[in-house]
Amino acid sequence: MNDKPTRIAIIGGGFSGAMTALHLLRNTKQNLSITIFEPRPVIGRGLAYSTVCDGHLLNVPAGGMSAYADDPGHFLRYATTRDATADERTFVPRMIFGDYITGMVREAIEQGNSNSSVKHVTETVLDVRKKDTGFEIEVSGKKTFEADQVILALGNMGGRKPRWLQNVPAIADHYLHDPWQPGAIESIGLDEDILLIGTGLTAVDKMIELEVKGHRGKIYAASRHGLLPRPHVARYVGLKNQAEIVPGNALKAFKSLRAQVVSNEAAGGDQDSWRLVFDGMRAETQNWWQSLSLAEQKRFLRHLRTYYDVHRHRMAPHIGEIVDSLAKSEQLRVLAARMESVEADNGRFKVTLKNRHNGQTVILTVDRMINCTGPQANIDAIESPLLRTIVGSGLAGRNTMGSGLAVTKTGQVLNQEGNPVYGLYAIGPLLISKLLESVAVPELRVQVASLADLVLSEAATA
Ligand SMILES: Cc1cc2nc3c(=O)[nH]c(=O)nc-3n(C[C@H](O)[C@H](O)[C@H](O)COP(=O)(O)OP(=O)(O)OC[C@H]3O[C@@H](n4cnc5c(N)ncnc54)[C@H](O)[C@@H]3O)c2cc1C
Repeated sequence: MNDKPTRIAIIGGGFSGAMTALHLLRNTKQNLSITIFEPRPVIGRGLAYSTVCDGHLLNVPAGGMSAYADDPGHFLRYATTRDATADERTFVPRMIFGDYITGMVREAIEQGNSNSSVKHVTETVLDVRKKDTGFEIEVSGKKTFEADQVILALGNMGGRKPRWLQNVPAIADHYLHDPWQPGAIESIGLDEDILLIGTGLTAVDKMIELEVKGHRGKIYAASRHGLLPRPHVARYVGLKNQAEIVPGNALKAFKSLRAQVVSNEAAGGDQDSWRLVFDGMRAETQNWWQSLSLAEQKRFLRHLRTYYDVHRHRMAPHIGEIVDSLAKSEQLRVLAARMESVEADNGRFKVTLKNRHNGQTVILTVDRMINCTGPQANIDAIESPLLRTIVGSGLAGRNTMGSGLAVTKTGQVLNQEGNPVYGLYAIGPLLISKLLESVAVPELRVQVASLADLVLSEAATA
């Protein structure tokens, strides 16, 4: 065995970066020196599990959240040490999942293994450059590090501020662009009226925080389709636990899924049992996505993605109940509408929207607006100096659909010319256009294990 350790840099220490490191340590037969670059104080929480709101629950039940695909009960066993009543259908607070991952990482950092080490550098990486052998990594103050292999695990990132904000400078500070920033909603008065821009899981997170805080003002949530994520339900009855998904054609695939829902109901399934069909297709989704032509993938993203997302990325039942009661009490109003304009109006925002269904103009006057459009996937719109530099230098190419990086399905990064960059990999949401499902733990845990195997086999042949 070569005594000189292979230097592996992991950029981003959320779930993907942390678990890639743990798999590398677990499976390596070589000496590894792993450095995780992560500006957050701990590794393993990332954006999703850094929340300090215990009302934020996982959107996958505990039985589905093991960090290890080959040990499905791993997280549940941890969860029961925190709450003895937890079972596989329990929706645990997200911060507990963060404790679970950070605990494993802390142990790995402290113990390493006999021939390898992992360390945390609390810096944001600004650039990665290819050298004759290996890579140079730059952080603030022009400080550099060297690595033989680099893994980009940058995760969920926000986009640039909208241009319309330039027209309302007087109250621009009442617009919250980064909804995930710690304490984001603290300064909001309990009686203020709020517009959430977006109706997906990010908007739902904000509704929960406002509800926990005892908010009394109106909450509007607007998006083009005005669709909220569907809730999980505690139990449902149905026969199917798998779905056949027609390859090659996005629309036919969805018509066939619909037919399977109907036949499932006819065979004794209850009205909630469409979830079985949706969950059943999950194992096949990535192969199905690869079977679509570029034109079909674009068609799916344009016409079906929103409907797919609200059924696929569901909220915990208890979260669904809270949202429901906010809507029933008319404190929450969800609109299917497009933003037309925003003006300042006596220290408030006057927002003009156009209703999607009847074309009518809706005018809302609110005290605050919160950007809840969720993580940005368009490489050119993501606010990341690192992505800007590596895409700008041609080291990494854009996916042809513009969202995510150009990668092979195993995560090897392709440069601007479409050639693989030896030793440079990506994992997590950056692979969204390639895999469609590269965002949630049940898929990521499989992808991180495969990526670690690939990195180790390439290191062994170097
Ligand atoms: C609010 C929210 C809730 C979610 N809830 C669930 C859930 O309940 N269940 C589920 O399965 N999935 C959930 N997800 C999906 C989530 O994408 C995955 O579970 C997982 O957290 C993704 O991990 P990641 O490491 O790929 O990305 P992230 O968690 O986003 O981590 C990426 C990390 O990279 C760091 N980083 C970025 N750029 C740089 C740089 N230039 N230099 C250094 N560090 C950098 C960031 O600081 C961040 O910590 C949720 C996602 C969000 C946004």
